Amino acid sequence: MTFSELGLKSELLKGVEELGFETPTPVQQEAIPVLLDGANDLVALAQTGTGKTAAFGLPLLNLTDQDFFKPQSIILSPTRELGNQIATDLKTFSKHMKGVKIVSVYGGANISTQIRELKRGCNIIVATPGRLVDLIKRGVADLSNIDRVILDEADEMLNMGFKDDLDLILNETPEDKNTWLFSATMAREVERIASNYMSDPQKITVGSKNEGSKNIDHKYYVVQNRNRFPALKRLVDVNPEIFGLIFCRTKRDTQEVADRLMAEGYSVDALHGDLSQQQRDRVMDKFRRKKIQLLCATDVAARGIDVKNISHVIHYELPEDIESYTHRSGRTGRAGEKGESLAIITDRDKFKIGRIEKIMKTKFSKDTIPNGDLVCELQLFKLIEEVKTQKIEVSEFAKYKERILEELSEFSKEEIIEQFIAKDFNKFIKYYKNSDDINSVGRERGGRDRDRGDRRDRGGRDFRGGRDRDRGGRDRDRGDRRDRGDRGDRGRGNRDGRKGADEGFKTIFVNVGSTDGLDKGGLIDFVCKNSDVRGRVIGKIRMNEKFSFIEVENASSDRILGGLQGSDHDGRSLRAEFAKPRD
Ligand code: AMP
Repeated sequence: MTFSELGLKSELLKGVEELGFETPTPVQQEAIPVLLDGANDLVALAQTGTGKTAAFGLPLLNLTDQDFFKPQSIILSPTRELGNQIATDLKTFSKHMKGVKIVSVYGGANISTQIRELKRGCNIIVATPGRLVDLIKRGVADLSNIDRVILDEADEMLNMGFKDDLDLILNETPEDKNTWLFSATMAREVERIASNYMSDPQKITVGSKNEGSKNIDHKYYVVQNRNRFPALKRLVDVNPEIFGLIFCRTKRDTQEVADRLMAEGYSVDALHGDLSQQQRDRVMDKFRRKKIQLLCATDVAARGIDVKNISHVIHYELPEDIESYTHRSGRTGRAGEKGESLAIITDRDKFKIGRIEKIMKTKFSKDTIPNGDLVCELQLFKLIEEVKTQKIEVSEFAKYKERILEELSEFSKEEIIEQFIAKDFNKFIKYYKNSDDINSVGRERGGRDRDRGDRRDRGGRDFRGGRDRDRGGRDRDRGDRRDRGDRGDRGRGNRDGRKGADEGFKTIFVNVGSTDGLDKGGLIDFVCKNSDVRGRVIGKIRMNEKFSFIEVENASSDRILGGLQGSDHDGRSLRAEFAKPRD
């Protein structure tokens, strides 16, 4: 099937052709003819990366009355990044259509500018729900002529707490409008929206429910918790050409992993809700233009990312909500490309892999974190390949040639090769020499292998020379928190610890944190010293500025609590108690 067979206007076909789209993707083939009719509600279950934007964007543009300069369509998206992506795509599709004006409005940016833009007029509004509600309440969004509302990534908007905003928008828009809902997953709340606000919607499912792209290889690696970071480094090092996304659960972890990688010279930056919009835009722009090789992101912040050629998605931690795995992994393997989705897990997470396999109807393969030799070999031959294909600026080089030859005259050809290779390669050899196997051998060893972890890796030696230290700052610009993807750390300061401890562990709350000059390692040492226990009985630690949560094995929990209560840190009497389980 071709685009022209779908019944689109010639101006749109021209735009599509210029974009290089040759044949419609399955979701486009199914959705476009249905939507062009203009009389249908629609529920489409399709993964990210399947061509959803054109699936609703082309019929929406086709139906837009170019002679009527009032908002006719609203497209709602969970994040500003996705909203901007949609607006850009729509502008590209409609390049040859006269009289189409698209305005995007989103939280975290100056509302007055957006009000002015809306007042100047448009026929399509792309918005994040929170900001649109603000604009509706201020009476600047004219909804009286809205013919259709498109909910993109509806499941994610609901996950992010936009339920009330969506309800308000759907209630405020004319009753006879059409609603087109796109979602990767059919969560209960999505079904609720469909049944409350749609009449007899057409249903399209591309691939089976929740199914991920067939082009993605899913692998998992089992390591001890404290070896997550060295494992991540090895996965990156063993894929020298990687252009990847690293997902962490919280903003804090995201920034921490990015900072550690940056400090060790990796080309990386962080994207999360604590960054201002400008910082996020700058980071995204760098990533899109491949100025950085790796992007560490929270689930929410990464929602809008449609960057071509992402080779790997690495799950530094599996998402809390398993369905997010679909979204994360869908960032690679887009538009027919191949991709890999690599999950670093601990023994305790193994059951989640089975659940994801079931939900996504896909199979994971268990892989092992490569050993140091393999990493070195790969890096060495990458370096040799680079040397072979290096372009030489002949004229510049000629000036120095004689002197260079003279300086190197004492070396044989082999020695010169060795010297040049060693210059870049010694750092890898040094780092990986005698490095341990960091693959977990399972819980049956009673966790003892935790102590055997790769100390060299853990030491985080800086072997890359610290390139690209532009870390984009951390200012805490206010704005629409929800639009900025502020999900990860919600509930900070709540003594219940947000999340219960894993089985076999209890969580202890202590009133010391990073402002007390402690890091996680320092806190472990402090616990071991005061409670006379070994580090291996300690599990995950979540550290805030003024307090921390420490997971400890059940059997040692009373002893640790007793040791910590009333102990003294820097002259301050410490308070410790078991954290209340999540309600
Ligand atoms: P989307 O799911 O809309 O985010 O699209 C994913 C990617 O596929 C984007 O980079 C689109 O530009 C690209 N794409 C969408 N439709 C087509 C098509 N028919 N042919 C080729 N590429 C497409």
